[in-house]
Amino acid sequence: MSQLPLNEIFESIQGEGSFTGAPSIFVRLQGCPVGCAWCDTKHSWYLDEAHQTSFDEVIAKGGDGESWCYTDIEEMVAHLLTYQARHIVISGGEPCLYDLKDFCAALEVNGFSIQIETSGTFEVKVSDTTHVTVSPKVAMKGGYEILDSALVRANEIKHPVAMSRHIEELDALLARLTAEQVASKKVYLQPISQQARATQLAIDTCIERNWWLSIQTHKYLAIQ
Ligand code: SF4
Repeated sequence: MSQLPLNEIFESIQGEGSFTGAPSIFVRLQGCPVGCAWCDTKHSWYLDEAHQTSFDEVIAKGGDGESWCYTDIEEMVAHLLTYQARHIVISGGEPCLYDLKDFCAALEVNGFSIQIETSGTFEVKVSDTTHVTVSPKVAMKGGYEILDSALVRANEIKHPVAMSRHIEELDALLARLTAEQVASKKVYLQPISQQARATQLAIDTCIERNWWLSIQTHKYLAIQ
């Protein structure tokens, strides 16, 4: 079976978007070239050999950090079955750097539901039943464009917002979809970094546009 680069696995409560409140196991894959200035997981950006370690050490580190390992799907699924939760959230880094169809198949055969969180800048290669959350990262330092295919595949579009130009970015992205495609998705605004001004802008715009508000509740609760 193919291998994937893993940064961390932890069990917690999903804090944002459609699955807020769901007990979840978070699988953070290593590697991201997108380059968001405000990224809070910069330790997951590089496949740096100096920080490559074993699966056991990645599991034992108990938190984030730059260490990562290559792992077999079989090894990962066997470990995931030791947790209570049966909802998997695949994140990163940018998890869509990788073809995840085999991983999704192995998870589903073992009774897990799957959600993936992606920037929308790479083709989404997951199972048909995986819930895809696209959190579009527009005009970031890495120079990647948001793909039409990712927007079309998204079950929810969760747009980070701090200022009105972010609303305009989202309008431009949604304009690339048909009315039916937009109607089939839940559209969220998520204030960046819990800033009060961003939160108020998100609230006002959600009411005006009939979009949904996504709050990073795990940050308010101070849980991972
Ligand atoms: Fe960080 Fe995600 Fe942006 Fe990558 S896409 S830089 S992991 S916020």
